[in-house]
Amino acid sequence: MKTVLKFGGASIQDAERIRNVRGIVQSYQEKEPILVVSALGKTTNDLEEILKQWYQQNPIWKTSLNQLLAIHLNIATALSSNASHALQALFGELESFLSNENRSKTFDQYYDHIIAYGELASTTLLAIYFQESGLACEWVDARKIIRTDNHFRDVNIDWKETEHLAKERFHTNKLYLTQGFIGATANGETTTLGREGSDYTASILSYCLEAKEMIIWKDVAGVMNADPKLVPEASVLSKISYREAVEMTYFGAKVIHPKTIKPLQNKHIPLLVKCFLDPSLEGTIISEATPQTPYPPIIVWKDQQVLLSIQDKDFSFIAEKHLTSIFNLFNQHRVHIHLMQNSAISFSVCVDANPRVSDLIKDLSHQFDVVRNEGMRLLTIRHYDESTIAKHLAGNEVLVEQRSRSTIQLVTRKK
Ligand code: ADP
Ligand code: ASP
Ligand code: MG
Repeated sequence: MKTVLKFGGASIQDAERIRNVRGIVQSYQEKEPILVVSALGKTTNDLEEILKQWYQQNPIWKTSLNQLLAIHLNIATALSSNASHALQALFGELESFLSNENRSKTFDQYYDHIIAYGELASTTLLAIYFQESGLACEWVDARKIIRTDNHFRDVNIDWKETEHLAKERFHTNKLYLTQGFIGATANGETTTLGREGSDYTASILSYCLEAKEMIIWKDVAGVMNADPKLVPEASVLSKISYREAVEMTYFGAKVIHPKTIKPLQNKHIPLLVKCFLDPSLEGTIISEATPQTPYPPIIVWKDQQVLLSIQDKDFSFIAEKHLTSIFNLFNQHRVHIHLMQNSAISFSVCVDANPRVSDLIKDLSHQFDVVRNEGMRLLTIRHYDESTIAKHLAGNEVLVEQRSRSTIQLVTRKK
């Protein structure tokens, strides 16, 4: 049975960390590992910037692309690796694509085509370095396995075809290395699974191959009861249920991509979150079992939220027929709702700030008055108590509050 190991950008951001990853992989060699790897460090952000420059016809994109190539080459040199030729070829391919492209496709199509080079480059570098240093591995193009529809940047997986392709491709027990985050349509057009989507790739492959376990390697000791960057006293949760993990990540705990859990839960595959800086730490195990001891309060902040208040123009009650047309528009514009609440005449929702929200408001405005509040933060506390709420709310104003027995959610802004 396979073990799927996923390494994110932070775990391979420089030569020393890549050597460290190699050591970890070697210790898993007996477990039929499949490695799913993200782009190096912050490469995806850099590529987004390059895309923006190119799209705005700013010739600086070429310089930026060369700087990104230089970062990759420097790491190859520090690893004494001969990966430079392959990296130059890959970046050369992207440069000539951008130089010759007639711009007839949508922005999202270009996004997926261009941003995918981050993962193509990191896996090329790692595969060559592993081979050179005596760790035999096979590089696999994830675009030939992860089959998606053509909702560029936010695709749906063709599970049947992906399962068939994965089973066919990963049929031996050797070490395979592939890209997270990327896939392709049936026509072979590159797609991406959404930012931070490499975790999801690992989970898709775990599902398709019925892996024994999946391990995500992070710069933290495991899943904690809050982001330690925001709450320094946060502590590791040694065991959590799939359900708890879904609730945390859905509301914004950035440690795991929210889509990761479902495929694992469906096949009862345990997910371990371990620390690449100290693999001897136990980390967190996520599985069916609910831990014996109660959970501590779990705090999740979701930034860059927009609060929309929607009312019928003629002051009528918010009734089912309104909600139906409101939900249809949210669905059409692919704007996901994180919290909703209604009064007699108004319906409020909290959503991520993204460019699609403006188009949605334009459409809603035919029938409704829409008030838009920017700069909100959604605070979710699972297993809350009053002192935890008071502590984390200090300095914030609350615009919407919702409580169930296990969860409180507050739409807040800084006072
Ligand atoms: P990757 O390198 O895989 O992309 P990320 O940087 O996306 O890793 O995720 C790791 C980070 O997630 C940690 O450094 C931490 O700041 C943050 N994080 C947010 N919420 C949590 C949480 N509940 N537990 C642990 N880490 C968290
Ligand atoms: N490289 C992609 C990103 O930064 C995917 C990932 O890292 O999971 O969003
Ligand atoms: Mg990440």
